[in-house]
Amino acid sequence: MTETAVTAGAAPFTEQRRQARRRAAWRRRRLVLFLMSPWIVGFGVFFGYPLVMSVYLSFTHYDLLSSPKWIGWANYHYLFTEDPQVGPAVRNTLWLIAIMVPLQVLFAFGVAMMVARARRGVGFFRTVFYLPALAPPVAATMAFVYLLNPATGPVNVILGHLGISGPLWFQSAGWSKPSLTLLGIWGVGNLMIIFLAAILDAPDNRVQAFLGPGHVCTVVGYAEYEPLVLRYRVPIVVTGFEPVDMLEGILMTVEQLEAGEARLENQYRRVVTREGNRASVALIHEIFEVCDRKWRGVGAIPESGWRLREAYRDFDAERRFDVKTIETSESSVCISGEILRGLKKPHDCPAFGRDCTPDTPLGATMVSSEGACAAYFHYGRMAQPVITP
Ligand code: SF4
Repeated sequence: MTETAVTAGAAPFTEQRRQARRRAAWRRRRLVLFLMSPWIVGFGVFFGYPLVMSVYLSFTHYDLLSSPKWIGWANYHYLFTEDPQVGPAVRNTLWLIAIMVPLQVLFAFGVAMMVARARRGVGFFRTVFYLPALAPPVAATMAFVYLLNPATGPVNVILGHLGISGPLWFQSAGWSKPSLTLLGIWGVGNLMIIFLAAILDAPDNRVQAFLGPGHVCTVVGYAEYEPLVLRYRVPIVVTGFEPVDMLEGILMTVEQLEAGEARLENQYRRVVTREGNRASVALIHEIFEVCDRKWRGVGAIPESGWRLREAYRDFDAERRFDVKTIETSESSVCISGEILRGLKKPHDCPAFGRDCTPDTPLGATMVSSEGACAAYFHYGRMAQPVITP
């Protein structure tokens, strides 16, 4: 097959795939928009509209009873030249921005780090730290006014028992801002959730880098991995299968991680090229088309599988034998999904080496020799301690 013929055969497929991706991207955008719509409406009605109206009303004289009268910059002139409260208000606001906001961020980040690393009671601690965010601001303020009441509040009562004279909190010019800071820190649940999501990213994923499959890349090349590296900021090193290849591939990923980088590298250069084997790729594209596929231990992933194109469907077992849906029944004890995400090790599985062996595999990771469970079995890693970060 000539180069021209190969390229001509691949072009329609590439276009088709691009269109499928575009459609999927639009579907995702519409879904995100739909899910965000209650927030967008709430933001527009309770924040956007009042904000615009406030700006407009600041240029008017308005007493709530009669219609606003346009007076230009007069309000601002009074504000900056005559109003005695502007200076202290600006100073207090700057103090809160400089002290309270960084403290809130640090506290929320610290709590998120601790909750993300907690081994037990994670749900409990997340709920405890998020609960204050659910309390209405007025109720939270009332609670703090009660707690920090200089005469009868529990905080000063406890301090009194310890021989410390409690401050006047909200009633003191010096302590009112720290009191407000305490109140602000108490409600960092929302901020903590954002940090937690950022730390965890894909909920509980602990995979930090990938060794790209050298045998697959020999055929299809490695250009397809480039968007993954950019999107997920995770190192991928295409690696061969000789022991020395594996060691070099691991070394290259560790070097990237230590340098804080996320790049796509090709350790298997003697075999793999970026484009792969073009003739084979063209043949694959000619015979197969992309489809959604369910993966054992992971679940359904859109556009992750191949099926025979219409012209070759007579060879398709699903059609030939009139099988409508093929469901793989997964063993209830199998934890291969968690193993694939780096959460657990094969010897954490109760079936490992007993009910599940390479001769009697229960899950995907015990089937082929490079699967994690099969490799652990073959090389005697039966009961190593699990070391997790
Ligand atoms: S040992 Fe078998 S059952 Fe257990 S996780 Fe591995 S493949 Fe699944």
